[in-house]
Amino acid sequence: MIYTIGHQANYDQALQGMAAAGQQLYKVGRTADYPGGYAFQTAEDAQRRIAEAYPDRHFAVYEVDADWERDTYPAANGWWHHLKEDRPIIGRKENTMDDPEEEGTMTYVCDLCGREIDEAEAYIDEGVLCPDCHLNSLEDKGK
Ligand SMILES: [Zn+2]
Repeated sequence: MIYTIGHQANYDQALQGMAAAGQQLYKVGRTADYPGGYAFQTAEDAQRRIAEAYPDRHFAVYEVDADWERDTYPAANGWWHHLKEDRPIIGRKENTMDDPEEEGTMTYVCDLCGREIDEAEAYIDEGVLCPDCHLNSLEDKGK
């Protein structure tokens, strides 16, 4: 078992939806233009990355059914690892909730342009993008 991080409301909802459909939610592995989802050996490391890069963004730690040696590789630009292939997300690690009482009232800041955006507008995965920057990133990929 290893750990990853994700936006809590999105991941919990996705996990519930997949479970209701009798299916498994996967954390995405490496592709041609994506290094693969975050991978951490311990829950403490996962929490450390949340504190470093995603403070106050309602991120949580999730358990992933994967092997640290076999299924992950070191990040090119950091101390963490990335997933090599898609692996099942087992569920949220307990007691990692980030300010649950503030749910739904969050303002996010776009990673690229710094603009403040409502939670409903934000594109959240392992970072936050405003609608404009999200659109630009899609166009860049198409080039
Ligand atoms: Zn932006």
